[in-house]
Amino acid sequence: MKIICIGRNYAQHAKELGNEIPDEPVVFLKPETALIPRGHPFYYPAHSQDVHFEVELVVRIDKVGKHIEERFAPRYYSSIGLGLDFTARDIQQECKAKGLPWEKAKAWDHSAPLSEAFIPLSEIHDINDVSFSLTQNGALVQKGNSKDMLFSIDRLIQEVSKYFTLKIGDLIYTGTPAGVGPISVGDELIGKIGEREMFRLTVK
Ligand code: MG
Repeated sequence: MKIICIGRNYAQHAKELGNEIPDEPVVFLKPETALIPRGHPFYYPAHSQDVHFEVELVVRIDKVGKHIEERFAPRYYSSIGLGLDFTARDIQQECKAKGLPWEKAKAWDHSAPLSEAFIPLSEIHDINDVSFSLTQNGALVQKGNSKDMLFSIDRLIQEVSKYFTLKIGDLIYTGTPAGVGPISVGDELIGKIGEREMFRLTVK
């Protein structure tokens, strides 16, 4: 399986990092090893001094498809989860400055923690109005809603499936809202969709 990540999908977040609003989705990949095996703790990686959290709604693909039209996209997923797109911001700034790819900043082992549970779409009233949040040591740091995405989930499926065959189990991390910030050893991060706790992670 593969993890497809979308960058700059919320205008406020693009602005906070000094990026332009994209006219097509910014896409990058993480390998399967970016997931954290069940029950495994998250350790602050040795290669960075400035890891940031980015909380994101995550779609899991459950049907194979290529060149999927936006109007048919809802047939290709049936649940939504929540994850973190951990980013080594120091390495990313270096890569950006040199015009290099982002993998060292984004795709390292365990950089994509994911909720164990996914919420079936039958329990979601409107996929384009899903609120989610992240707290860091009890303080609310990120708050988002899928209605503020520059490219909706269905549009993202259309766009990414132009390039990649989507396979069962593939994940799409749909971009982060404003409020990203650094983590420290000892932090507790709790992600919620609506009021429902989706994950709880301690940085070791
Ligand atoms: Mg992200």
